[in-house]
Amino acid sequence: MILVDQETCVGCGDCVDACPFAAITMADDRPVIGDACTLCGACVDACPSGSLRLDALEKERPGGQETWRGVMVFAEFRHGRLAPVALELLGVGRKLADALAVPLSAALLGADGPEFQEAASSLIRHGADLVYAAGHPALQHFSEENYTRTLTAIIRRYQPEIVLAGATAIGRSFIPAVATHLGAGLTADCTGLDIRVEDRALLQTRPAFGGNIMATIVCPDVRPQMATVRPKVMRELPPDDGRQGEIVAFQIDEALLSSRGRVIESVVAEADQVNIQEADILVSGGRGLDDPKGFELLRRLAEAVGGKVAASRAAVDAGWIAYPHQVGQTGKTVAPKLYIACGISGALQHVAGMQSSETIVAINRDPHAPIFDVADYGLVGDLYEIVPKLIAKIFERRGQ
Ligand SMILES: Cc1cc2nc3c(=O)[nH]c(=O)nc-3n(C[C@H](O)[C@H](O)[C@H](O)COP(=O)(O)OP(=O)(O)OC[C@H]3O[C@@H](n4cnc5c(N)ncnc54)[C@H](O)[C@@H]3O)c2cc1C
Repeated sequence: MILVDQETCVGCGDCVDACPFAAITMADDRPVIGDACTLCGACVDACPSGSLRLDALEKERPGGQETWRGVMVFAEFRHGRLAPVALELLGVGRKLADALAVPLSAALLGADGPEFQEAASSLIRHGADLVYAAGHPALQHFSEENYTRTLTAIIRRYQPEIVLAGATAIGRSFIPAVATHLGAGLTADCTGLDIRVEDRALLQTRPAFGGNIMATIVCPDVRPQMATVRPKVMRELPPDDGRQGEIVAFQIDEALLSSRGRVIESVVAEADQVNIQEADILVSGGRGLDDPKGFELLRRLAEAVGGKVAASRAAVDAGWIAYPHQVGQTGKTVAPKLYIACGISGALQHVAGMQSSETIVAINRDPHAPIFDVADYGLVGDLYEIVPKLIAKIFERRGQ
């Protein structure tokens, strides 16, 4: 927090002018720091008498650990719909909350309206006991400042001991800021979450050292315990139309919504439209294609089976296909019903992103390629011979 030395302060008001968030007012010739303060420190630098001091941790830990109870999920809501990862987080959140015998809540930010309300109900159907719905026109489009302040305010008010968010572009962008405001730690890109019931610790497992070891991280001293999880790593619960829960309208302090940025327009980018994480069938190509034209062949196979095209990093790095198609540690994690890997060796970093697929088919001319270790069906041979035969067979079966 910002501490004011009442004895040395000369009441000049320079801090009021310096604050970019209009968070400081003067009362009895002394500055009063309001809730809109982001701890940016501009007032500290501007104070001519050195009477202001930034003391982050003291502000960010109200009460002891015992006042923090419950599991909260940040429910990402964009372009009128919930991000699938929100429901996946509720799936794992439900298990954690049940282990701790506490409620599971969801924080939903966006502009109020029928789609927003439907999203709130959907969160209940998928496992939430409570939904804190912050509906405000200023939250219609993602803005780091507004989202950070609103989610921080929700967390401070309801004090969950665990906060989970998706490791999406939005989650990665503002969840670290929320953790900083709360003085909490944050474990990014978790692949496993569990509870150590004795001390209510969240066991946060994630790959470390280039994926060579799995590290389990705990934050024993500070609440909330915060983690992000990549899409498609956790499983959502089947919706239950009979589930009961409470939707609480969270009243946002207007002062929290003053942003220096202004969103002029929000468009769905090509990258989002690729959406390999939502496909049931993926046909994935690697360096073994040997040529960007190989993806035309894979597109034909994908069309024949009603799937989408994905790729290894080697194919993306070669410029044969755009990054949103990349599967793996530095790409997307996918879990389709069927994953057909063509000319992909099966490096650890690739397998990390597709091993949860229900059925894996590998086509590779090297019988010793590691991809066969994770494949359910392996076809050893030249993909340029095998894939056209597969396409022909599919059309033949359909009588086309
Ligand atoms: C920090 C880090 C992060 C990484 N992140 C990722 C990631 O997110 N995703 C990812 O994929 N990789 C990632 N990598 C790279 C990874 O280690 C591998 O280099 C990469 O996955 C290899 O891609 P590939 O399988 O397409 O190519 P290769 O390993 O070169 O394999 C090509 C395969 O094609 C086969 N082949 C060749 N010609 C044919 C043919 N005509 N028919 C059939 N088979 C054929 C070969 O036998 C071979 O097995 C990462 C690496 C690091 C260090």
